[in-house]
Formats: sequence, structure tokens, C-alpha cells
Amino acid sequence: MSVESKREDFTFQAEISRLLHLLSESLYQNREITIRELVSNASDALDKVRHASLTDSSIDVSDLRISVEPDKENHILVIRDNGVGMTRDELVQNLGTIAHSGSLEFLEKLKQTDDSGDVSLIGQFGVGFYSSFMLAERVEVRTRSFSEDQGWVWESTGDGSFSISEPDSQLERGTELRLHLKKDMDEFTEATRLKYILRKYSTFVPHPIHVEDEHVNDQPPIWVEPRNSVTDEQYQNFYEYLTHFPGQQPLWHLHLTADSPFQFHSILYCPDSNLERMGFGRSEHGLHLCAKRILVQNDNRDLLPDYLRFLRGIVDSEDLPLNVSREALQDNTVFRRMKKVITKKVLDHLDTVASDDPESYAKFYGEFGASLREGIGEDFDNRDRLAKLLRFESTDGSAENGLASLAGYCERAGEDQNQIYFITGTDRTAALQDPNLEIFRKRGLEVLILTDPVDEYVLSTLGEFEKHALVSVDSAELELPASKESEDGNDEESDTAENSEVPNGFDEVLKLFRETLGDRIEDVRQSERLTESVCCLVNSKGAQSTAMQKVLQLNMPDFEMSKMILEINPEAPLVKRLCEIAVNDDNSGFVRTCGEQLYSNAMIMAGLAPNGNEMSDRVQDFMMELAQQRSSIKT
Ligand code: ADP
Repeated sequence: MSVESKREDFTFQAEISRLLHLLSESLYQNREITIRELVSNASDALDKVRHASLTDSSIDVSDLRISVEPDKENHILVIRDNGVGMTRDELVQNLGTIAHSGSLEFLEKLKQTDDSGDVSLIGQFGVGFYSSFMLAERVEVRTRSFSEDQGWVWESTGDGSFSISEPDSQLERGTELRLHLKKDMDEFTEATRLKYILRKYSTFVPHPIHVEDEHVNDQPPIWVEPRNSVTDEQYQNFYEYLTHFPGQQPLWHLHLTADSPFQFHSILYCPDSNLERMGFGRSEHGLHLCAKRILVQNDNRDLLPDYLRFLRGIVDSEDLPLNVSREALQDNTVFRRMKKVITKKVLDHLDTVASDDPESYAKFYGEFGASLREGIGEDFDNRDRLAKLLRFESTDGSAENGLASLAGYCERAGEDQNQIYFITGTDRTAALQDPNLEIFRKRGLEVLILTDPVDEYVLSTLGEFEKHALVSVDSAELELPASKESEDGNDEESDTAENSEVPNGFDEVLKLFRETLGDRIEDVRQSERLTESVCCLVNSKGAQSTAMQKVLQLNMPDFEMSKMILEINPEAPLVKRLCEIAVNDDNSGFVRTCGEQLYSNAMIMAGLAPNGNEMSDRVQDFMMELAQQRSSIKT
């Protein structure tokens, strides 16, 4: 046969063979998804040919359509489009190597889990064309590119190789997929079943789909319909269509319509989980962008600020030109203003969710809080809006739903408190052990607990909230509200340093400590924040908190921690004794050694590493001195 003589055989790229093997092996339940994937490819091909027609008016795009034709007798399902089609080279490239990053990502994930049960993830990654081998034992692709007269036939049984040959007759522009169905796949030759599947998954495909001459997706798109006429089910279906993830419900959706100064419709969805957080890498899906109902891009990433990239959805505008490049779009004024409006609406919506349904907001924040924090650094215009949306753990158990907002904090704080206090720790328990918190606990002052180093970066970027400076509890900039005599005349604050008596010899102790610690520290001074502990380290004015500096040090080897201040509590019994003996010069050496050790202790409490050798020698000397007192061995 002449056709046979023009036939050439190829082997699949290794990854594809693996993918095909997995697909044919898997007990993949959701076979309907194959139809969705193939129709979606057909729809893309139609978009592409329409795009090409913008610069070449000889291309006829008057009747773009997809048809799905069951052939019961021969167990064949045909899916046809009159889109761009493929040249011979494109066939080899597109259907012989992994073109789509989703498929690669999918394989990567499977490699990690090594559990073919996870093949169910397929829907989310969109393995696309190759999923046809779940239904078919043999696939034929008959295609002719819009740019050529010659058509080609691609064929494979999915077992590692494919062939390309010339067709026996002239082909129409576009692509015809002929799936020679496996024995148990007869359901895919039932027109009713196919219509059901297409209505379920492909209602929103922006081109007509026909099954036996019936137009199955002829409903108007829901985003142009008034909000109150769209049912929950329709919103849900559209979400599934956008995300390719059946059964998954979004956390919320937002349906926007604007008429002036420019017109647009939009539906945005917030997924219920953050795939980035689950290690799926940066989400790169973008929004569907339509101009006058026609899809211009299905992965537009410029309509939302980067930090809101987790949202899925569509924006459709009458005011956008159809044939613009991505670059030109970014410069388009309408486009830029639309982005502003949409961003503002999303943040307003979050504010509403936060006040109307705190529980749902807490769930949202758990998933996407990191994105909002990213926004504080990125989106100067909306910084105040974003600041209101931040949530933190707090020492105040009565804080809103266990998570404190900055506004809530300010409401709870007394009028004479001008700062919002925060502490950074690896977790809540560790943070609560910090001696810096003692005075706050004593005086019942709320402190926000930051467990993510990014939080502190965010707060230092903000600087203040509603005229309250944001200050770390270990900062020298800390100002506590003036302590009040309590109403019944009982002086509750008597044991804070301010009111306490400084023992004789305290200045001498500070002096000896300063001498021995030299320029390792900025100063040694009396503490106003300790009530029980002996000492702690605080940061001088302008310096970041210790936790923040540690993060910087991890990331930048050259980073030098700023010098700290050692604070001593004159009330502590140990300090009182040191004061008493310090006045005698014979004890100076011992007091200095105590200073060294207290500095080491304070470093450890602050999560810093003192010099281990020196410290263990010193501690052993102390132990020796005590042991000698108890032992009868003479030295
Ligand atoms: P994806 O569509 O996600 O890129 P697929 O494996 O489904 O991945 O398809 C690979 C490529 O084959 C597509 O990117 C496209 O270039 C081409 N292709 C698939 N189906 C068609 C079609 N109906 N018409 C034209 N090209 C197609």
C-alpha cells in the first residue's frame, strides 16, 4: 500500500513511556476526565487559529467548533476540531515528547510517592492527550495544520512507539482524534453519556461542542449573568472546570461586575488549600482573561498582584482589545486600572469574611496568610488594607478566635499604651519562656507571638499600626505605659524595677561586668523589664530583634549581629549577694567571672551560642569550689 511506504516509526521519549505505562496500569476511576482533556486541547487549538486569523484574514474562523462523535458499531469515539492542526514536525514534538510541564510535574510527584493510587492526581495536573490511552487501545490522530495543505496521521497503541504516515485522502484543517476504545469502554459510545460528561466538565468551553448535531454547551457564561441568578451548583461547576479538580470546593468566591469607568465581569475563587504550602512549587496558573467573551489568555498573571496568585477565576471585559500581546496588555491603561480595582475588591472581600465569619477567615489565613504577608512588602498602595488582615498568636487568650488582629490588639490595649509589643520564637512555648516577657506578664500587657521569622520582617516593614509603633520585647525602644497605682491604694507594681530599691554595690557590679565583657556588648545596665530572672539580653535602639538577626545570619554568612545590652535585675537574690560582696576588692575576680557566666546564660536564653569551651571550664571551676567546701581531700 502506498500509504504504508510513507510510514515512519518513532519511539516515545522515556518519560512518556513511563506515563503511558502508569496510565494503562492504573485503576483510574475518573475516566471522564479524558474527555475533558481532549475537548480542552481542541478548544485551545480553536483559540490558536482564531489568534492566527487576527493577522491573516485569509484564515476562515466563521464556524469554529468541536464535535464529539460516537461510533457504536466500531467502538470508536471521534473528537474533531477545525483549529490550528499540526504539521509533521509538530506531531513529533507535541505527541512524542512531554510538551506540558503538568505531565512532568505529575511524574515527579508520583516518583516521590511511588504509589500508583496517586494517579488520581492526574486530573489536577492535566496529563492531557496521553490520558486517551486510558480509554483506547489504539489512538489515531488525523490532522492538518492551517499553515499547510499536507495532512498527517499519527498512530500509536501506547506501548512505547508511534508512527506517522500520510493520509489516504485530503484532510480538513484541524485535528480529528480517533479513539479505538478498549473492550470495557463502551459507555463512551453512548451519546447520552457523552452529553452528560460534556455538560458536567465542558459547559464553559468557549466554543460550541456538538454531539450528534446537538449543541451541548449553549448556556450563557455565568460570569456575565447577574449574581442572584447564578446557583451554587453553577459556581461549583465553574470552579471545577477552571481547576480541573472534581469535587473540590473553594473556600469562597467573589463575583464582580463593573460598568464604569470601564466594564468587566469577573468570578474569582479562593481554593480551600494552598498547594504551594504542600510543596507543589509556585503556582503559575493565572486567570482566564476574556475580551468580549472570547478567551484571550488562560494563564494571565498580570491582572492580580503576585501575592494573590493563588486565586483562580476569569475576567471578561468589553474594554480590552482582542489582539494584544502580553507585553502590550501590561501597558494598557484599562488593564492596569482593572487590576487595581480587582485587588481592592478582593482585599475588601477578605475584610468582610474576617468580620462576618472569623472561623472561615482563620482557615483562609492558615492557608494563605503567608501570601498576605508577602503583600505587605509588595503592595505599597494597599499596605493598610493588608495590615488589617494580618493575624498573630497572642499572649491574650481572649484574642479573636485565638488569633489576634492588630486592630483588635489596639482596642484591648490601654489608652496610654503607644506601642504594640511582639516576641519572636520558634514556637509559642519557646517564646513564652523568654525572660523578656516577665514584666508584660506581671502587668497584664498583651504581647503578640510571632512564630514565623517572616512575621517580624512584615511588622518592621509596617513600622506602626494606627499610631502604635510595633516593637519587639527585646528592643531598647520598648516603652511601657506608665504604671498606675491600683485603685484600692494597694501598690501592685511595687516589685517592678522602677519602684524597687537598688542595693548598695549594684553600680560596682555593673562596672565589674562591663570591664570583663568589654566590647562584646554595648552596655550592662539595670533592667526594668525583669521581675524574676537574673539577667537578659536586649537589642539597642534601631537594631532588629535577636530572632530576626539570627535568620539574617543564616542566610547571609557575612552578617554581623549587632552588639547587645546585658540587663541585670537588682532584685534577684543572686544579684543582691553579688552587690554585697562586690564592695570588697578581694571578690572582684569572682564577680567578674559571674558576669561572664551570666552573659553566657543570657545568650543561651536568647537562643545564641556562647563560647562552649570557656563556659564549661568556668562552670567546672564553680563546681570545684563548691565541691572543695564539701570534701575532705586537701588539694
Ligand atoms: P497540553 O495540551 O497540556 O499542552 P497535551 O499532551 O494534551 O498537553 O498536548 C500536547 C500538545 O499537543 C499541545 O500542547 C498541542 O500543541 C498539541 N495538541 C494536542 N491536541 C491538539 C489539537 N486538538 N489540535 C492541535 N494541537 C493539539
